[in-house]
Amino acid sequence: MTVRTRIAPSPTGDPHVGTAYVALFNLAFAKQQGGEFILRIEDTDQVRSTPESEQAILDSLRWVGIEWSEGPDVGGPYGPYRQSERSSIYKEYADQLIRDGHAFHCFATSEELDQMREEQKEQGLPQKYDGRGLKLSQDEVQKRIAAGEPYVIRMKVPEEGVCVFNDMLRGQIEIDWAQIDMQVLMKADGLPTYHLANVVDDHLMKITHVIRGEEWINSAPKHLLLYKYFGWDAPELCHMPLLRNPDKTKLSKRKNPTSINFYERMGYMPEALLNYLGRMGWSMPDEREKFSLAEMIEHFDILRVSLGGPIFDLEKLSWLNSQWLRELDQTSFILRFVQWGLNAQYLSPAIEHIMPRINTFSDVVPLAGHLLSGMIDVKVDDFTHKKLETEDVRRILQFAAWKLDVQRQWDRDSLFEVASGLAKAMGYKVGEFFFPLFIAIAGTSATFSVVDAMAILGPDLSRARLRHAIGVVGGPSKKEAKAWQKEFDALV
Ligand code: GLU
Repeated sequence: MTVRTRIAPSPTGDPHVGTAYVALFNLAFAKQQGGEFILRIEDTDQVRSTPESEQAILDSLRWVGIEWSEGPDVGGPYGPYRQSERSSIYKEYADQLIRDGHAFHCFATSEELDQMREEQKEQGLPQKYDGRGLKLSQDEVQKRIAAGEPYVIRMKVPEEGVCVFNDMLRGQIEIDWAQIDMQVLMKADGLPTYHLANVVDDHLMKITHVIRGEEWINSAPKHLLLYKYFGWDAPELCHMPLLRNPDKTKLSKRKNPTSINFYERMGYMPEALLNYLGRMGWSMPDEREKFSLAEMIEHFDILRVSLGGPIFDLEKLSWLNSQWLRELDQTSFILRFVQWGLNAQYLSPAIEHIMPRINTFSDVVPLAGHLLSGMIDVKVDDFTHKKLETEDVRRILQFAAWKLDVQRQWDRDSLFEVASGLAKAMGYKVGEFFFPLFIAIAGTSATFSVVDAMAILGPDLSRARLRHAIGVVGGPSKKEAKAWQKEFDALV
């Protein structure tokens, strides 16, 4: 048997370090055994998936040094590798489940389901699908389909008993069937949910080992049941521990930058980031901290993964990066520095703002040095403004941070619209409102527009600078945070 593993990202946001981490362990596991590692794009959520996000994921995985032998961009014998191009396949398998009596149609509207959950809540029952679709006769189902009523397809799930399965790291896991919902497999739009598409594709793509984040453990019973319904052998399952913030909470962008783009923009070396991800819950047999991908593959043993939540710590990463960096010879150092920050692709969007404002090349760095920096070293006094009290500055920065935390469109026009809208809602003149943002992002207001800078720096570094500035001027106290949040919610 050839070992085949995969990473199956959903292209719904910025490329996450957690994706690179799981991809790395899949790659190391497969390669150590002479197998293949493939990449599949799980874009069945048509509302949230974007081609830009897919491209960013592919680019950033490659940047960090991860390569796949089959995927949407490189092809392969089991394609297409993008789920949105495989709709007819899933439909066929969903129909098969219906024919075999393992799945059923459900016409319940979302209002009906809300009401069902409400009633369950009142009666102190667990909130889950109550099997109402199973009570419909075949005739009725056919009539309602013919009448064009929207429906979903759900899988049947045993009402009692226990699902027992093996996890490569955790051993035997038991989950009561009573806890498992009759999962929707096909949505009303005719597209599959993650669960159906994932199982069908892992089977058709001959995946032998599913190595993924522990947040998927509770989905395993549904998946294993689907394998059984189809009469297929299930792959081995391995649920990796989640990366954590230093306070042990799940790594989240509100506390820690999670986008790979952030680490690239901060000037980390991809080798160091990959090396650090390899240290997340895993160690070399000789415990050495610095190792290359090839060394990791050579010595890889998945059983050395420890389950205590690995902490993703920027200081440790920086230390490791410094080790990698100091080993470069001077020529490579210069080359890589130029590639990182002085390249045309990165600087192009800034040039139109820089050229009209300078007289000599030596004016460039004072004007645009913030595009080549990491965190900006700001002081409380830098935020002094004749129209703004400290209180205003604190609130502007915090409200802007909340707003930008959920902002997905990150081009300059959208950012300007969002920021000026917030300024108006908070009752500030745009110029006043933007002042603290200039200081937080650029360290000065004597430079080109801050929304252009944020667009160039990207969401994670911009957010990190805002968070840093909030720390400097003093974020809301616990009491303030509640009141501010309420006020903020009312504004937006
Ligand atoms: N599309 C899922 C994700 O975004 C894949 C989970 C899995 O590996 O099964 O993480």
